[in-house]
Amino acid sequence: MTRVFSGVKPTGHLTLGNYLGAMRQWAAVDQYRADSLFCVVDLHALTVDHDPARVRRLSRQAATLLLAVGLDPELCTVFVQSHVDEHARLSYVLECVATDGEMRRMIQYKEKAARERERGGSVRLSLLTYPVLMAADILAYGADEVPVGDDQAQHVELTRDLAVRFNQRYGHTFVVPRATVPPVAARVMSLQDPGSKMGKSDDAGPGIVYLLDEPEVVRKKVMRAVTDSGREVVYDREERPGLANLLEILAACTGGNPEALSGVYESYGSLKKDTAEAVVELLRPVQERHRALCADPGYVEGVLRDGAERARAMARPTVDAAYRAIGL
Ligand code: ADP
Repeated sequence: MTRVFSGVKPTGHLTLGNYLGAMRQWAAVDQYRADSLFCVVDLHALTVDHDPARVRRLSRQAATLLLAVGLDPELCTVFVQSHVDEHARLSYVLECVATDGEMRRMIQYKEKAARERERGGSVRLSLLTYPVLMAADILAYGADEVPVGDDQAQHVELTRDLAVRFNQRYGHTFVVPRATVPPVAARVMSLQDPGSKMGKSDDAGPGIVYLLDEPEVVRKKVMRAVTDSGREVVYDREERPGLANLLEILAACTGGNPEALSGVYESYGSLKKDTAEAVVELLRPVQERHRALCADPGYVEGVLRDGAERARAMARPTVDAAYRAIGL
């Protein structure tokens, strides 16, 4: 059976981008067709300035949201990365296979490091080695597929390179995985700045729709989305990125096609209104389940405990094999 692994970072509140680009696919498709693991990758949240209590709180919230979007612990394994030591154990071994040059070429590293330096801060070494830990997350489970948004595709490519290199040098140990990216909404952009992605780690702003935003807040954010001064509704990612983003969000919410939808609308106002309602409807059941789960914290705790146990049992043989292969 195909093995699937993916995760979310608890660096902020989860967004519509996380949902449309990744989590929805996990809940609607992957957990049914594959042996799948979904993880709150909390070690990755330490790569930038962080508040320990906030990381802990956001990890719990992210885990609860994984269940709220419909992941069923009977069908898949839901757990928290730091509960399973194998990730960090394997990461070190992979650091002995990766090179600093390939790390420095990672787009996310370049962007985040530049932002950090602009703020006058220093860049943590873990920000540079982050993709290696991500490779360890994936390779420890022998995942065949990694369903991610477009922004993570480069990291999965690196994971493939490391797996192939390790296998060639030290004998076949790892499955070489591949990224699977959704056809629509693989990159949801900020509603205020369609040139940058809707990212939870960025400062909260009116351009980001969070999964737990109240309907009124969602409506306000969508209605105020930056578009352009044109009149006609056309789908053109290059020339009309704000409009294209709205059309893609609407298409992803309703199962439509952005190009076809552009022909349906006469004004930006009506497009925004329908998009806002579609997002509100999409989030409604998720928010309802989230409320119910918050009322039963013991349940979530139990799921995470079982999940970690299952994950550990799956990862240990592969990580042990990697240690033996590399000479330990
Ligand atoms: P971030 O911190 O950028 O929100 P994570 O690394 O936690 O993202 O991402 C979790 C998943 O959500 C990943 O598969 C990522 O590709 C996806 N994702 C994140 N932001 C977006 C977005 N704006 N559009 C589409 N997918 C996204």
